[in-house]
Amino acid sequence: MSDYNINGLAIPLFLILMLVEYGVLRLQGRSLHRFNDSVNSLSMGLLLLISDALLKAYTFAVFIWLWQNHRLIDFQVENPITWLVFFLGVDFCYYWFHRIAHQINILWGAHVGHHQGEEYNFTTALRQSAFQYAFSWVFYLPLAVLGCPPVVFVVQFVVLKMYQFWLHTQSINRIPLIEGVMSTPSSHRVHHAKNPIYIDRNYGGTLVIWDRLFGTWQPELADEPCHYGTTRPLDTLNPVRANLQHWSMLARDTIKTARWQDKVSLWFRPTGWRPADCLAMDATDPGMQKTGCSDRPKYDPKTTPGKKLYVGCSMMLTFVVCTAFIFLSPQLPGWQVATGTVLVIGGLVIAGDLLENRTRFQWIEWVRVPLLVWFAASLWSATALAESQCSR
Ligand SMILES: [Zn+2]
Repeated sequence: MSDYNINGLAIPLFLILMLVEYGVLRLQGRSLHRFNDSVNSLSMGLLLLISDALLKAYTFAVFIWLWQNHRLIDFQVENPITWLVFFLGVDFCYYWFHRIAHQINILWGAHVGHHQGEEYNFTTALRQSAFQYAFSWVFYLPLAVLGCPPVVFVVQFVVLKMYQFWLHTQSINRIPLIEGVMSTPSSHRVHHAKNPIYIDRNYGGTLVIWDRLFGTWQPELADEPCHYGTTRPLDTLNPVRANLQHWSMLARDTIKTARWQDKVSLWFRPTGWRPADCLAMDATDPGMQKTGCSDRPKYDPKTTPGKKLYVGCSMMLTFVVCTAFIFLSPQLPGWQVATGTVLVIGGLVIAGDLLENRTRFQWIEWVRVPLLVWFAASLWSATALAESQCSR
């Protein structure tokens, strides 16, 4: 296992790209960013990076074990055919994970976070459910059995993820020649739209040929502008609640429904399915229906300029600390990982609270911020200690 997690270094890179997109849109005279939506998206992205740092080493170990002990074909890393086969293989597995994640209740709960944003810009790319990787990694295991060398898988997976970043923008229109073959901002705008005609379309990661082959392709229509977000509104800026939104509804139905079969099966039924007795109890509740809807007022609570300024500064501090924290996470002791995780998540929850103009947890900041600075200093000294031991 590497001593460093390079995902941490992606944070400043993505921040720079977001500033570039913001500048380009301003030059075009368009305003497509909303402060509270962007902060919520970035908060979700940081939660994902932390959960990935905790999970990936263990799930990748399963991939390596399968490849070492049960691979069917010996693909050579030096052979370009290997890279082509597994470029297609990784993209194909992603398509099916993504499609099933939209269509099964329990998996939609691990993906819905990516779709909750009601604006569409580069911050949306970072807005991911923290638990998505806990489910998605299983979908790539057939590649290990087929014989995908682990290094090829890692590179292709990173390429897939990096490629998807630029899809989340409204600053780029349709691109001739590659529309309908590669994923583009236009095809992915359709994927994020909640208009009935666009719901559950264009699952492709790098290629959309899978959508064309398996009947889920839908081009963006000039007379049907995209309205972003989920059919059921999020109605919170708390990133932890956002991550648990769908599962908490499933849990409520599990408790409420009388039939034992439904208590279990509802988690594995098509997204939106609810037990008949729960539907009868909540006749006016939109529930988990996923049939699409037209535009509606966005969730945009107002707060004071002072609180927005505080949240902006707090987020900048959190980004700096998280860059180092995630980068160094493989070599940190358990107590330091746990401390960093609690301090970061606490800050993101409080930021969401302040943007909803609530102050119930504000007092915690008097303790959390000095602790976060101390934590950053402890990262610095841990690195210096490790370097001095290496140089001996
Ligand atoms: Zn999706």
